[in-house]
Amino acid sequence: MINFNVPPYVETAMDYIAECVKNQKICGDGAYTKKCNQWIEERTGTSKCLLTTSCTHATEMAALLAEIQPGDEVIMPAYTFVSTADAFVLRGATPVFVDIRPDTMNIDETLIEAAITPKTKAIVPVHYAGVSCEMDTIMDIAQRHHLIVIEDAAQGIMSSYKGKALGTIGDYGCFSFHETKNYSMGEGGALLIKDAANIENAEIIREKGTNRSKFFSGQIDKYTWVNYGSSYLPSYMNAAYLYSQLEIADEINEARLGIFDRYMENLKELEQAGKIELPVIPEGCVANGHMFYFKTKDLEERSRLIDFLKERGVHAVFHYIPLHTAPAGLKYGRFHGEDKYTTKESERLLRLPMYYGLTPEQVDYISEQVKEFYR
Ligand SMILES: *Cc1c(COP(=O)(O)O)cnc(C)c1O
Repeated sequence: MINFNVPPYVETAMDYIAECVKNQKICGDGAYTKKCNQWIEERTGTSKCLLTTSCTHATEMAALLAEIQPGDEVIMPAYTFVSTADAFVLRGATPVFVDIRPDTMNIDETLIEAAITPKTKAIVPVHYAGVSCEMDTIMDIAQRHHLIVIEDAAQGIMSSYKGKALGTIGDYGCFSFHETKNYSMGEGGALLIKDAANIENAEIIREKGTNRSKFFSGQIDKYTWVNYGSSYLPSYMNAAYLYSQLEIADEINEARLGIFDRYMENLKELEQAGKIELPVIPEGCVANGHMFYFKTKDLEERSRLIDFLKERGVHAVFHYIPLHTAPAGLKYGRFHGEDKYTTKESERLLRLPMYYGLTPEQVDYISEQVKEFYR
């Protein structure tokens, strides 16, 4: 069976983790956490990166930093992972879902403005498959309406929009290092902070509401409880595992892009024959090979194709059930405008195996099975 996902394995991870264990340094902000933060800061150009226990937690931190209150509204797509909405629901806010663009599966930037009310506090663009949303338009809307922008860049590390790293364009950016993402620490994530004025508060929220971070950097001689917060620090060991991959991030990125391009090339003829639709990467966007998907005719055809591939040893999967149709989405959120594409396009989308280590032969085998189905 060719698995849908296999987390990356880099040999140095064993040495780095062993070093943490032997030195009996395993919790909090240690050497490898700092190395990861620095690496992300240098590569993305963000003012500050704080490694977290997940992207979900990075988004929760952003919601706390944005001072989201009960009754506030937050605009986002419904075609996303639950955490995009949940982080704001936990603060008592209402997710307001708007439709997606069928080409990228990202929020349709032309529908955002009509969904703004006096209660709107933030916009949360989700960069699906590591392909950027139309950020110039989104930032312009946010500026004119004084809204905070929190990028769900869970899938977007190493991707860019008009030369800017995803996660650095909005006020806050959230990365995921879950084992299904391009770089992994098992469970983990990062919060990127654009405005240096928000760093101190973010450090306090991440350290259980204390100014411990200032204490460790020698700015104060004892630390205390100064604000609300929680515990969003990953252990050194997880950071060590992640760092082994960041050191070869370009190699991993190129391998993934190679797989993406090979699928595109192999399946081009099916698109030309009008059988399937291939993904689109708009002008100005550089992607990261996070995912390879294409669209079938409809839900029924997709189900048959998934079964067909399974019988031939290929694990293909579908993706999100739109949040506005889920029990919690119905309870806590609302959809603004017409659901023209969210449900319809999500039902047609199928993802093929994609991971660091998938061989060209495997990609060709998988592509051949897809072609066989359409014969
Ligand atoms: C993976 C993912 C998340 C959640 O990431 P965790 O690190 O598992 O919390 C959130 N949003 C999107 C779009 C994701 O793909």
